[in-house]
Amino acid sequence: MKNMRIDDFHEKVWLSSPTMHGEELHYVQEAFDTNWVAPLGKNVNEFEKEMAAYVGIGHTAALNSGTAALHLAIKLVGIQAGDLVCCSDLTFAATVNPVSYEGGVQIFIDSERETWNMNPEALERALKKYRGKIKAVIVANLYGTPAKLEEIVSLCDAYGVTLIEDAAESLSATYKGRQTGTFGKYNCISFNGNKIITTSGGGMLLSHEEEAVQKARFWATQARDPAPWYQHSETGYNYRMSNIVAGIGRGQLLHLDEHRRRKKEIYIKYKEGFKELPIEMNPYLEDSEPNFWLSCMTIDRKLVENGRVTPEKIRIALQEKNVESRPIWKPMHLQPVYVNREFVSVGGEDVGGDIFTRGLCLPSDVKMAEEVQDVVIEIVRECFE
Ligand SMILES: *Cc1c(COP(=O)(O)O)cnc(C)c1O
Repeated sequence: MKNMRIDDFHEKVWLSSPTMHGEELHYVQEAFDTNWVAPLGKNVNEFEKEMAAYVGIGHTAALNSGTAALHLAIKLVGIQAGDLVCCSDLTFAATVNPVSYEGGVQIFIDSERETWNMNPEALERALKKYRGKIKAVIVANLYGTPAKLEEIVSLCDAYGVTLIEDAAESLSATYKGRQTGTFGKYNCISFNGNKIITTSGGGMLLSHEEEAVQKARFWATQARDPAPWYQHSETGYNYRMSNIVAGIGRGQLLHLDEHRRRKKEIYIKYKEGFKELPIEMNPYLEDSEPNFWLSCMTIDRKLVENGRVTPEKIRIALQEKNVESRPIWKPMHLQPVYVNREFVSVGGEDVGGDIFTRGLCLPSDVKMAEEVQDVVIEIVRECFE
Protein backbone atom coordinates (compact mmCIF):
# COMPACT_ATOMS: atom_id res chain seq x y z
CA MET A 1 0.00 0.00 0.00
CA LYS A 2 3.06 2.28 0.12
CA ASN A 3 3.16 5.26 -2.20
CA MET A 4 -0.55 4.91 -2.77
CA ARG A 5 -2.17 8.19 -3.66
CA ILE A 6 -5.78 9.13 -3.24
CA ASP A 7 -6.01 9.17 -7.07
CA ASP A 8 -5.67 5.41 -6.92
CA PHE A 9 -8.82 5.05 -4.82
CA HIS A 10 -11.19 6.74 -7.26
CA GLU A 11 -13.81 6.86 -4.58
CA LYS A 12 -14.52 10.04 -2.72
CA VAL A 13 -13.30 10.25 0.85
CA TRP A 14 -16.19 11.59 2.89
CA LEU A 15 -16.20 13.80 5.94
CA SER A 16 -18.62 11.50 7.75
CA SER A 17 -21.05 9.36 5.79
CA PRO A 18 -23.61 6.80 6.98
CA THR A 19 -22.15 3.42 8.01
CA MET A 20 -24.73 0.66 7.85
CA HIS A 21 -24.24 -2.86 9.17
CA GLY A 22 -27.18 -5.08 8.28
CA GLU A 23 -29.12 -5.29 11.54
CA GLU A 24 -30.90 -2.11 10.48
CA LEU A 25 -32.58 -4.07 7.68
CA HIS A 26 -33.68 -6.76 10.10
CA TYR A 27 -35.73 -4.25 12.10
CA VAL A 28 -37.04 -2.57 8.96
CA GLN A 29 -38.04 -5.98 7.56
CA GLU A 30 -39.88 -6.76 10.77
CA ALA A 31 -41.84 -3.54 10.39
CA PHE A 32 -42.76 -4.51 6.83
CA ASP A 33 -43.70 -8.06 7.82
CA THR A 34 -46.09 -6.83 10.53
CA ASN A 35 -47.28 -3.91 8.35
CA TRP A 36 -46.17 -1.44 11.05
CA VAL A 37 -44.76 0.83 8.36
CA ALA A 38 -46.68 3.67 9.94
CA PRO A 39 -47.58 5.33 12.16
CA LEU A 40 -45.71 4.59 15.41
CA GLY A 41 -45.07 1.02 16.49
CA LYS A 42 -42.68 -1.40 18.13
CA ASN A 43 -39.47 -0.01 16.66
CA VAL A 44 -40.27 3.50 17.93
CA ASN A 45 -41.12 2.25 21.42
CA GLU A 46 -38.09 -0.01 21.62
CA PHE A 47 -35.73 2.58 20.14
CA GLU A 48 -36.85 5.06 22.79
CA LYS A 49 -36.25 2.51 25.56
CA GLU A 50 -32.93 1.31 24.19
CA MET A 51 -31.65 4.85 23.79
CA ALA A 52 -32.81 5.83 27.28
CA ALA A 53 -30.95 2.82 28.70
CA TYR A 54 -27.80 3.59 26.70
CA VAL A 55 -27.64 7.25 27.69
CA GLY A 56 -28.87 6.64 31.24
CA ILE A 57 -31.89 8.89 31.33
CA GLY A 58 -35.49 8.24 32.31
CA HIS A 59 -37.50 9.36 29.30
CA THR A 60 -37.11 9.89 25.57
CA ALA A 61 -39.32 10.90 22.63
CA ALA A 62 -38.25 9.81 19.14
CA LEU A 63 -38.75 12.64 16.63
CA ASN A 64 -38.13 13.32 12.96
CA SER A 65 -35.12 15.58 13.63
CA GLY A 66 -32.83 16.95 16.27
CA THR A 67 -34.09 20.41 15.38
CA ALA A 68 -37.63 19.30 16.28
CA ALA A 69 -36.29 18.06 19.64
CA LEU A 70 -34.73 21.48 20.29
CA HIS A 71 -37.91 23.25 19.27
CA LEU A 72 -39.97 21.17 21.70
CA ALA A 73 -37.38 21.81 24.42
CA ILE A 74 -37.84 25.55 23.83
CA LYS A 75 -41.60 25.09 24.10
CA LEU A 76 -41.24 23.06 27.29
CA VAL A 77 -39.27 25.93 28.85
CA GLY A 78 -42.13 28.18 27.78
CA ILE A 79 -40.05 30.64 25.73
CA GLN A 80 -42.24 33.47 24.45
CA ALA A 81 -41.78 36.57 22.34
CA GLY A 82 -38.93 38.70 23.67
CA ASP A 83 -37.56 36.12 26.14
CA LEU A 84 -33.77 35.98 26.30
CA VAL A 85 -31.89 32.70 25.76
CA CYS A 86 -28.12 32.32 26.12
CA CYS A 87 -26.78 30.08 23.34
CA SER A 88 -23.50 28.55 22.25
CA ASP A 89 -22.06 30.85 19.59
CA LEU A 90 -19.75 28.43 17.80
CA THR A 91 -22.21 25.80 16.60
CA PHE A 92 -24.53 24.71 13.81
CA ALA A 93 -27.47 27.10 13.29
CA ALA A 94 -29.97 24.38 14.34
CA THR A 95 -28.83 24.84 17.96
CA VAL A 96 -30.17 28.39 18.04
CA ASN A 97 -32.87 28.71 15.34
CA PRO A 98 -35.66 27.11 17.42
CA VAL A 99 -35.39 30.08 19.83
CA SER A 100 -36.55 32.27 16.95
CA TYR A 101 -39.44 29.91 16.13
CA GLU A 102 -41.02 30.98 19.43
CA GLY A 103 -40.02 34.64 19.16
CA GLY A 104 -37.21 34.37 21.70
CA VAL A 105 -34.03 36.42 21.40
CA GLN A 106 -30.60 34.77 21.42
CA ILE A 107 -27.60 36.07 23.29
CA PHE A 108 -24.51 34.40 21.85
CA ILE A 109 -21.88 33.26 24.33
CA ASP A 110 -18.29 32.98 23.12
CA SER A 111 -16.22 29.78 23.32
CA GLU A 112 -13.32 28.95 25.61
CA ARG A 113 -10.16 27.41 24.17
CA GLU A 114 -10.06 24.16 26.16
CA THR A 115 -13.10 22.52 24.51
CA TRP A 116 -14.21 25.17 21.95
CA ASN A 117 -17.58 25.22 23.75
CA MET A 118 -19.51 27.83 25.72
CA ASN A 119 -17.22 29.80 28.03
CA PRO A 120 -18.70 29.65 31.57
CA GLU A 121 -17.10 33.00 32.42
CA ALA A 122 -18.79 34.70 29.48
CA LEU A 123 -22.04 32.95 30.37
CA GLU A 124 -21.89 34.33 33.90
CA ARG A 125 -21.39 37.85 32.52
CA ALA A 126 -24.57 37.53 30.50
CA LEU A 127 -26.51 35.99 33.39
CA LYS A 128 -25.43 38.86 35.67
CA LYS A 129 -26.14 41.57 33.14
CA TYR A 130 -29.67 40.31 32.44
CA ARG A 131 -30.41 38.82 35.85
CA GLY A 132 -33.97 37.53 35.98
CA LYS A 133 -34.56 38.09 32.27
CA ILE A 134 -32.85 35.02 30.84
CA LYS A 135 -35.13 32.02 30.56
CA ALA A 136 -32.80 29.31 29.28
CA VAL A 137 -29.26 28.36 28.30
CA ILE A 138 -28.59 26.13 25.29
CA VAL A 139 -25.17 24.54 25.34
CA ALA A 140 -23.84 22.43 22.45
CA ASN A 141 -21.04 19.86 22.69
CA LEU A 142 -19.18 20.79 19.54
CA TYR A 143 -17.88 18.01 17.28
CA GLY A 144 -18.59 15.51 20.06
CA THR A 145 -16.49 17.21 22.74
CA PRO A 146 -18.26 17.79 26.06
CA ALA A 147 -18.42 21.42 27.21
CA LYS A 148 -17.44 22.50 30.73
CA LEU A 149 -20.75 21.06 31.80
CA GLU A 150 -20.25 21.12 35.56
CA GLU A 151 -19.58 24.87 35.58
CA ILE A 152 -22.48 25.54 33.24
CA VAL A 153 -24.92 23.44 35.29
CA SER A 154 -23.85 25.26 38.50
CA LEU A 155 -24.33 28.66 36.88
CA CYS A 156 -27.79 27.71 35.62
CA ASP A 157 -28.71 26.49 39.11
CA ALA A 158 -27.34 29.62 40.77
CA TYR A 159 -29.26 31.96 38.45
CA GLY A 160 -32.42 29.84 38.28
CA VAL A 161 -32.20 29.30 34.52
CA THR A 162 -33.22 26.12 32.67
CA LEU A 163 -30.45 24.27 30.85
CA ILE A 164 -31.02 22.68 27.44
CA GLU A 165 -28.18 20.44 26.28
CA ASP A 166 -27.68 20.09 22.53
CA ALA A 167 -25.95 16.71 22.36
CA ALA A 168 -26.74 16.31 18.65
CA GLU A 169 -23.07 15.82 17.83
CA SER A 170 -21.93 14.16 21.06
CA LEU A 171 -24.00 11.00 21.50
CA SER A 172 -21.90 8.49 23.55
CA ALA A 173 -19.42 11.13 24.78
CA THR A 174 -19.00 11.35 28.54
CA TYR A 175 -18.09 14.08 31.00
CA LYS A 176 -16.73 12.83 34.34
CA GLY A 177 -18.12 9.43 33.47
CA ARG A 178 -21.62 10.65 32.73
CA GLN A 179 -23.16 10.62 29.25
CA THR A 180 -23.82 13.90 27.48
CA GLY A 181 -27.50 14.43 26.80
CA THR A 182 -28.27 14.05 30.52
CA PHE A 183 -26.98 17.37 31.92
CA GLY A 184 -29.86 19.55 30.81
CA LYS A 185 -33.41 19.57 32.04
CA TYR A 186 -34.16 18.92 28.37
CA ASN A 187 -31.65 17.36 26.01
CA CYS A 188 -31.50 16.71 22.31
CA ILE A 189 -29.69 14.24 20.06
CA SER A 190 -29.71 13.89 16.28
CA PHE A 191 -29.58 10.95 13.88
CA ASN A 192 -29.01 13.06 10.79
CA GLY A 193 -27.06 11.51 7.91
CA ASN A 194 -23.56 12.41 8.99
CA LYS A 195 -23.89 12.01 12.78
CA ILE A 196 -22.11 9.21 14.66
CA ILE A 197 -25.14 6.98 14.12
CA THR A 198 -27.88 7.80 11.67
CA THR A 199 -31.43 6.84 10.86
CA SER A 200 -31.22 8.79 7.56
CA GLY A 201 -32.84 11.61 9.50
CA GLY A 202 -34.24 11.83 13.00
CA GLY A 203 -33.71 13.02 16.52
CA MET A 204 -34.69 12.54 20.11
CA LEU A 205 -35.70 14.60 23.11
CA LEU A 206 -34.38 13.30 26.42
CA SER A 207 -35.43 14.30 29.90
CA HIS A 208 -35.40 13.11 33.48
CA GLU A 209 -39.03 14.17 33.72
CA GLU A 210 -41.73 11.87 32.40
CA GLU A 211 -44.35 14.61 32.22
CA ALA A 212 -42.17 16.76 29.96
CA VAL A 213 -41.59 13.95 27.49
CA GLN A 214 -45.29 13.10 27.45
CA LYS A 215 -46.07 16.70 26.64
CA ALA A 216 -43.49 16.67 23.86
CA ARG A 217 -45.06 13.54 22.35
CA PHE A 218 -48.44 15.26 22.50
CA TRP A 219 -47.19 18.34 20.62
CA ALA A 220 -45.29 16.12 18.17
CA THR A 221 -48.45 14.28 17.12
CA GLN A 222 -50.61 17.33 16.27
CA ALA A 223 -51.68 18.05 19.87
CA ARG A 224 -54.83 15.97 19.77
CA ASP A 225 -57.02 16.31 22.83
CA PRO A 226 -58.40 13.08 24.33
CA ALA A 227 -61.74 13.21 22.50
CA PRO A 228 -63.35 10.81 19.98
CA TRP A 229 -63.27 13.52 17.30
CA TYR A 230 -60.34 15.70 16.22
CA GLN A 231 -60.16 18.38 18.87
CA HIS A 232 -57.24 20.69 19.56
CA SER A 233 -56.68 23.12 22.40
CA GLU A 234 -53.09 23.82 21.40
CA THR A 235 -51.03 24.20 18.24
CA GLY A 236 -49.49 20.87 17.33
CA TYR A 237 -46.68 19.66 15.08
CA ASN A 238 -45.96 16.64 12.92
CA TYR A 239 -42.62 15.80 14.53
CA ARG A 240 -42.77 12.08 15.34
CA MET A 241 -40.31 9.50 14.05
CA SER A 242 -41.69 6.76 11.80
CA ASN A 243 -41.49 3.08 12.68
CA ILE A 244 -39.26 2.40 9.66
CA VAL A 245 -36.78 5.09 10.61
CA ALA A 246 -36.72 3.85 14.21
CA GLY A 247 -35.83 0.38 12.90
CA ILE A 248 -32.70 1.80 11.30
CA GLY A 249 -31.88 3.48 14.61
CA ARG A 250 -32.17 0.22 16.58
CA GLY A 251 -29.72 -1.46 14.23
CA GLN A 252 -27.32 1.49 14.38
CA LEU A 253 -27.37 1.68 18.18
CA LEU A 254 -25.80 -1.81 18.29
CA HIS A 255 -22.73 -0.27 16.62
CA LEU A 256 -22.48 3.06 18.39
CA ASP A 257 -19.55 2.07 20.63
CA GLU A 258 -17.73 0.57 17.67
CA HIS A 259 -18.18 3.83 15.72
CA ARG A 260 -16.84 5.83 18.64
CA ARG A 261 -13.76 3.58 18.99
CA ARG A 262 -13.01 3.99 15.29
CA LYS A 263 -13.53 7.77 15.45
CA LYS A 264 -11.05 7.95 18.31
CA GLU A 265 -8.45 5.97 16.34
CA ILE A 266 -8.87 8.43 13.49
CA TYR A 267 -8.36 11.40 15.81
CA ILE A 268 -5.23 9.86 17.37
CA LYS A 269 -3.78 9.08 13.94
CA TYR A 270 -4.21 12.70 12.82
CA LYS A 271 -2.64 13.94 16.03
CA GLU A 272 0.33 11.66 15.52
CA GLY A 273 0.57 12.53 11.81
CA PHE A 274 0.66 16.28 12.47
CA LYS A 275 3.04 16.10 15.43
CA GLU A 276 5.81 18.32 14.08
CA LEU A 277 3.52 20.67 12.18
CA PRO A 278 2.12 24.00 13.46
CA ILE A 279 -1.27 22.30 13.83
CA GLU A 280 -3.43 21.64 16.89
CA MET A 281 -6.25 19.16 17.04
CA ASN A 282 -9.59 20.09 18.65
CA PRO A 283 -8.89 19.94 22.38
CA TYR A 284 -10.84 18.26 25.18
CA LEU A 285 -10.80 18.10 28.95
CA GLU A 286 -8.86 15.33 30.68
CA ASP A 287 -11.91 14.19 32.60
CA SER A 288 -14.10 14.00 29.52
CA GLU A 289 -14.21 11.38 26.77
CA PRO A 290 -15.42 12.86 23.47
CA ASN A 291 -17.06 10.69 20.82
CA PHE A 292 -14.60 12.22 18.31
CA TRP A 293 -17.44 12.73 15.82
CA LEU A 294 -15.27 15.01 13.69
CA SER A 295 -11.52 15.43 13.94
CA CYS A 296 -10.71 19.12 13.52
CA MET A 297 -7.48 21.04 13.26
CA THR A 298 -6.41 24.64 13.72
CA ILE A 299 -3.41 26.16 11.97
CA ASP A 300 -0.87 28.38 13.72
CA ARG A 301 -2.09 31.99 13.71
CA LYS A 302 0.97 33.53 12.02
CA LEU A 303 0.74 31.21 9.02
CA VAL A 304 -2.93 32.04 8.54
CA GLU A 305 -2.43 35.77 9.02
CA ASN A 306 0.31 36.03 6.40
CA GLY A 307 -1.72 33.78 4.11
CA ARG A 308 0.97 31.09 3.80
CA VAL A 309 -1.31 28.25 4.93
CA THR A 310 -5.03 28.77 5.39
CA PRO A 311 -7.89 26.34 6.07
CA GLU A 312 -9.27 27.21 2.64
CA LYS A 313 -5.99 26.31 0.90
CA ILE A 314 -6.00 22.94 2.64
CA ARG A 315 -9.66 22.38 1.88
CA ILE A 316 -9.04 22.99 -1.83
CA ALA A 317 -5.91 20.81 -1.87
CA LEU A 318 -7.98 17.98 -0.38
CA GLN A 319 -10.88 18.61 -2.73
CA GLU A 320 -8.55 18.30 -5.72
CA LYS A 321 -7.82 14.76 -4.54
CA ASN A 322 -11.49 13.96 -4.07
CA VAL A 323 -11.32 14.32 -0.28
CA GLU A 324 -14.10 16.13 1.54
CA SER A 325 -13.27 18.49 4.41
CA ARG A 326 -15.34 21.31 5.87
CA PRO A 327 -14.84 24.71 7.44
CA ILE A 328 -15.52 25.01 11.16
CA TRP A 329 -19.10 26.18 11.86
CA LYS A 330 -19.23 29.90 11.25
CA PRO A 331 -20.06 31.49 14.62
CA MET A 332 -23.64 32.67 15.08
CA HIS A 333 -22.66 36.26 15.93
CA LEU A 334 -21.11 36.49 12.45
CA GLN A 335 -24.24 35.22 10.67
CA PRO A 336 -26.22 37.77 8.64
CA VAL A 337 -29.49 36.44 10.08
CA TYR A 338 -28.31 37.26 13.62
CA VAL A 339 -26.47 40.58 13.13
CA ASN A 340 -28.62 42.38 15.67
CA ARG A 341 -28.04 39.89 18.50
CA GLU A 342 -25.70 40.47 21.42
CA PHE A 343 -22.40 38.61 21.61
CA VAL A 344 -20.82 38.15 25.03
CA SER A 345 -17.15 37.27 25.32
CA VAL A 346 -14.32 37.65 27.83
CA GLY A 347 -11.65 40.36 27.56
CA GLY A 348 -12.85 41.62 24.19
CA GLU A 349 -11.69 38.39 22.53
CA ASP A 350 -13.57 36.52 19.80
CA VAL A 351 -12.45 32.94 20.41
CA GLY A 352 -15.11 31.41 18.16
CA GLY A 353 -14.18 33.73 15.31
CA ASP A 354 -10.52 32.83 15.77
CA ILE A 355 -11.22 29.07 15.65
CA PHE A 356 -13.38 29.61 12.56
CA THR A 357 -10.58 31.55 10.83
CA ARG A 358 -7.89 28.97 11.56
CA GLY A 359 -9.81 25.70 11.64
CA LEU A 360 -10.90 22.86 9.40
CA CYS A 361 -12.91 19.63 9.91
CA LEU A 362 -11.07 16.63 8.50
CA PRO A 363 -12.45 13.41 7.03
CA SER A 364 -13.64 11.34 9.99
CA ASP A 365 -15.59 8.59 8.31
CA VAL A 366 -15.54 5.34 10.29
CA LYS A 367 -15.10 3.42 7.02
CA MET A 368 -11.96 5.35 6.04
CA ALA A 369 -9.09 2.85 5.65
CA GLU A 370 -5.82 3.58 7.46
CA GLU A 371 -3.95 3.83 4.15
CA VAL A 372 -6.47 6.39 2.95
CA GLN A 373 -6.00 8.45 6.09
CA ASP A 374 -2.23 8.27 5.56
CA VAL A 375 -2.76 9.94 2.19
CA VAL A 376 -5.07 12.57 3.68
CA ILE A 377 -2.38 13.38 6.25
CA GLU A 378 0.24 13.56 3.48
CA ILE A 379 -1.84 16.03 1.46
CA VAL A 380 -2.20 18.27 4.53
CA ARG A 381 1.53 17.99 5.28
CA GLU A 382 2.39 19.06 1.75
CA CYS A 383 0.47 22.30 2.29
CA PHE A 384 3.08 23.25 4.91
CA GLU A 385 6.16 22.62 2.73
C1 LIG B 1 -27.11 18.17 13.51
C2 LIG B 1 -27.27 19.16 14.57
C3 LIG B 1 -28.53 19.60 15.00
C4 LIG B 1 -29.80 19.31 14.29
O1 LIG B 1 -30.12 18.01 14.12
P1 LIG B 1 -31.05 17.60 12.86
O2 LIG B 1 -31.38 16.17 13.19
O3 LIG B 1 -30.21 17.73 11.64
O4 LIG B 1 -32.23 18.47 12.85
C5 LIG B 1 -28.59 20.45 16.08
N1 LIG B 1 -27.49 20.89 16.69
C6 LIG B 1 -26.27 20.52 16.29
C7 LIG B 1 -25.09 21.04 17.05
C8 LIG B 1 -26.11 19.67 15.21
O5 LIG B 1 -24.87 19.35 14.79
